[in-house]
Amino acid sequence: MSPIKTILVVDDDAIFLDLYEDALKDSYQVIRALSGFEAFKLLRENRVDLMILDSTMPGLTGLEVLEHLRETSDLPVIMVTADKDKEVQAIETGANDFISKPWDSRVLNLRVKKELGIVDAREEMIRLIYTDNLTNTWNRGKFDLDLELDHVSHIAMFDIDHFKVFNDTYGHQGGDEALKQFVEIIQSTLNERTQTLYRYGGEEFSVLYSHHSDKEVMEHLEALLEDIRTIPIEVSEGVFTSITASIGVAHGNNYQEADKRLYIAKKSGRDQVVFQ
Ligand SMILES: [Mg+2]
Repeated sequence: MSPIKTILVVDDDAIFLDLYEDALKDSYQVIRALSGFEAFKLLRENRVDLMILDSTMPGLTGLEVLEHLRETSDLPVIMVTADKDKEVQAIETGANDFISKPWDSRVLNLRVKKELGIVDAREEMIRLIYTDNLTNTWNRGKFDLDLELDHVSHIAMFDIDHFKVFNDTYGHQGGDEALKQFVEIIQSTLNERTQTLYRYGGEEFSVLYSHHSDKEVMEHLEALLEDIRTIPIEVSEGVFTSITASIGVAHGNNYQEADKRLYIAKKSGRDQVVFQ
C-alpha cells in the first residue's frame, strides 16, 4: 500500500483551513499555511504531494505563489477561486485543476483523488520506462540520466566473464537465469540510498556510488566478487554452476575510464577489480 499522502492547504482564512482539514483528514495528512510565505516554508520542510491554494490572499496572492512554484516544481496544485476570471488565469499559470468557493467536500475529495492518481500513474510509467524487463533493475536510459547527478563519487562497470561460452553451454534461457541471479547477488549487497545498480546492456552492468571513499568502494567490490564467485547460479532446475565477473572503477562519472579499466581487468585474467 502506498504511504499516506500529504496535502498542503493554503488560505488566509483559518476557518477555511478548518473546513479543508475536516474534508480531507480521513484520507490524507493535512498541513496548513495561512500565507504564501508560510506555504513555501512548509514546502521546504515537508514532503508534500498536493497543494490546495486560495487564489485571493493578502501578501502573495495564490497566482503569485503558483507562478513562483512553477519555476522549480510540478507539484499538483488545485486553485480555489471565487470568480471566473481567476479560473482561466489559474490554469494558464499552471494549476492542475480549480474548484470554486463554496465547495462541496465530496467534489473536493474527488478532485484531489484524480490529481494524485495522475501523479501515481506518471510515476509508474516512468518506473517502467527506466526498468530493465529481464532483471528488473534500472536500465541504460536511467543510467545515462543518473550519470549526470552531482553526488556520484565512483562508477564501477561490471562484465560477466566468458558469458558467450556460458550462453553456448546453457542456452539463452540459462544465460537469462544467470543475469537475473547475478543481479540478485549484487542487489543483496547494495545500500539502496548510496549505491545503485543498472543494466548497461547485455551482460554489462554498472553501479554508481554516491559519497563513498576509495576504500569503501574497493571493500564493497572485493566482497562482491567473492559472493559472485562462490554463490551457485541455478541455470535450469537442479543444474548449478558458478560465474565470475570483471570490474573497472573510476572516480565521479568517468565512464570511459571505468570501461578502460574493465578492459584491463579482462585482459589480465578476469575475476578482479581494476581501479588505477
Ligand atoms: Mg482568501
